[in-house]
This record gives sequence, structure tokens and C-alpha cells, in this order.
Amino acid sequence: MLPEAISVLENSEPAIRHESLLADCAAGPVSTAVAEIFAAAARPGMISLAGGNPDLSFLPMPELGKSTDAIVANQGQQALQYGAGQGTEELRIQICELMALEGIIGASPGNVAVTIGSQSALDTVTKILCNPGDTILTDDATYMGALGTFAGYQADVQPVRTDDDGLIPEELQLRIVSLRNAGKHIKFLYIIPNFNNPSGITLAGNRRNRVVEICREANIFVVEDNPYGLLRFGGENLPALRACYPLDVIYLGSFSKIFAPGLRIGWALLPPHLVQKFLILGGSSTLCPPALSQMLVSAYLRDYDWQAHLSVAVGSYRQRRDAMLTALAACMPPGVTWTRPDGGFFIWLTLPPSIDTQALVHRAFDANVAFFHGAAFLPRAGRSNQLRLAFSAVPAGMIEVGIQRLSRVISAAVDT
Ligand code: PMP
Repeated sequence: MLPEAISVLENSEPAIRHESLLADCAAGPVSTAVAEIFAAAARPGMISLAGGNPDLSFLPMPELGKSTDAIVANQGQQALQYGAGQGTEELRIQICELMALEGIIGASPGNVAVTIGSQSALDTVTKILCNPGDTILTDDATYMGALGTFAGYQADVQPVRTDDDGLIPEELQLRIVSLRNAGKHIKFLYIIPNFNNPSGITLAGNRRNRVVEICREANIFVVEDNPYGLLRFGGENLPALRACYPLDVIYLGSFSKIFAPGLRIGWALLPPHLVQKFLILGGSSTLCPPALSQMLVSAYLRDYDWQAHLSVAVGSYRQRRDAMLTALAACMPPGVTWTRPDGGFFIWLTLPPSIDTQALVHRAFDANVAFFHGAAFLPRAGRSNQLRLAFSAVPAGMIEVGIQRLSRVISAAVDT
């Protein structure tokens, strides 16, 4: 070893020595705000309105235990083995049947790739479409896990203005023109059309085809992320954006909210010409989706009245949403407004503009209530006077207490 190399090794801290070895996306400090909120949310006595966890109490656990036993006992050689990178044929056929409930009729199992949650589907889509610096369009507040993925590929994420009916088509059109004039290479619009995470807002029916048409004319893909679509408890069903546009929309689905996130099964429905690229490039990080999980999902869809279980869960989400809306109306000080979602897990609060909700996170911990501050969902770094509340995982009575605690924290901030 060269003498100067030895002295570098002896004289510096590993973290400093290794800084120059890190990729751009990992260099510098990383935000620990999200991990801190999840850690605090798990403290005894805390009412967590932070994490968007599904309520699994509606699942028939003893029966699922028996199904798991039977899969391992009877098909263990397959269930515990590597499997096809695209996923099992049985599950891909079932996924096509399930997507028909969202208005996607006649999808081919050959265009479906089963993935490790829809998170890994989004990762692969970004991998096959984006070079560093390429532009991704999003709603003005969007899923923080998607923002994390986009950051990993060093994409340039640009928000498009939304209102109570979701993304505004005219704004989308203007934004595409101005970004192109600025020399940006726009690859796709990432959109959660049903019960957006974090806002709970749904893209209105009369905007859906318009949004896809604008992207199609501009030669930009639409990536439709729809984990909450079947969790509707009010309003009318709206067809998926993918329904009429098999070549222009990449559709992402998940069993995490309608069955169980711990199984880590999601999927992508792709335009046919992207399937091989998706499988080859996605397979380089995951090899194949887990066989046992896929077989249990297939058994659940095949052997159980899963829609009945889901409707019990959706009934409970409706009750929790109502409890949260009632408590907000009773407790929040003037100047605070919120969304009224027809499904999904989240309500989005807007506080007076002078308040930075990140500054309230620790005060809320002290009051034993947790939420996510709005800045976590912003495509571009900044402060936010908004915050996300999840009603999915907390019984109605506790939601009321949680909102009372939160309203004291917010009232104190509004008064100062
Ligand atoms: N998209 C959205 C909008 C989500 O809210 C989530 C999970 N919270 C995901 C994707 C990831 O889901 P999965 O468990 O399928 O990876």
C-alpha cells in the first residue's frame, strides 16, 4: 500500500473517508424526519394519525393460517423456490379479473408483471424511463415514497397545480409547454387518481381522459398509481385512466391495502412494448417476486369471499373518516380547513399560511399525537402549512381523542 494511502486510512473517520465513495443521491445528510415520526408513533400512549396502515382485523386469520400451511405442505417445492420473474400465471390472470373492477376490461396477463409491492414496480418504471435530470410531473403534493424513488434516480420532479377535483388539465398543458421551452426532457406524469396520498382528493371524472390526452399528445407516459381505488365508501366509481389508453398509461396496483402489505405483492400493467424491458431491468434488483406470497394471494382471491371481507374493512374506514370529520369540525380553530375524501386513508389539513407544520411535529409528540407534516409530500423542498392525517388504522373513539390533542397544539400555534 502507498504510504500516503496508509496515512489517509489512519487519520480519518470512516464516514469522512467514505464520503467521496457515495453516489450523488446518498452524499450529504439524509433527512431522518420520516423515521423519527414512525419511531415516535410507536411510543406507548401515542395516538398515531401518521402511518397509512390498513386495518387487518377484518382478515380471517385462522383460515389464512390453514391456507398457508396447505400451500407449504402440498406445493412447498414451488412455494419456497425461486419463480418466474413475471410472477405466476394464475396470479396474473386473477389480477386481470380484478382490474376489470376498475374499468380495465380485457387486459392480457402477458402484459402484467407481479412485483414486490407496487413500490418496486414504481422503482422499475423510473429505472426504465429516467436518466438523471429527466423530468417527472406530479400532483402538487404526492406520495413521499414515490418522491424517494424519483430522488434515487436523480429525476427533476415538477409539481402541477391541483384543486379539489385533482390535477388541473389546463395547468398540466401550460406546465408541459413551459418546461419544454426551458429545455426539460419530460418522461412521465405520476398520478394517484383515487384518494390521493396525502390529500385524499380524487381526480374528477370529466378530467380523466383529458389528462391522458394531454400527455399522449405531448408524448409523455402517464404512470397511474392506484392502491386505494377499491376502497371507495362514497361517490360514484370512476374508471381507471388506463381503461381507454392501453399504450399510453402504465398502471400500478397493489394488494397492500385490499389484502395485506406484509406479503409485499403489487403489479404493473404495461404497454406490450415495455414488458421485456421492465422484466429484465426490474429483475436485476429483485430476481423474482416471492412465490409463497403470490400463492397465498391467489388462494385468497380464489377460495375466499374476499370482496365481503373488503366491504367490512371499507365500512370501518367510512366510520373512521366520519369520526375524524366530526372531530375536526368540533375542535379545530377558525382558519383551518380540510378535505373530505370519498375513500382511501387520508385527510389533508390546511392551516393559516403563517404556520409551518414541521414545527408542530414535536409539540404534537409531547401531546401524544403523531401526524405527517406537509413538506414530506412536496416535490420540491420547502415549508408547508398543510399536514396529513391517516384515519385508517385507529378506532373511531381514539380518533376523536387524537384530534382533540392535535387541535390544542394547532390552536396554540394559531394564537401565537
Ligand atoms: N403508492 C401509494 C400512493 C402508496 O400510498 C403506497 C403505500 N403507502 C404505495 C404506492 C406502496 O405500496 P406497496 O405496499 O404496494 O409497495
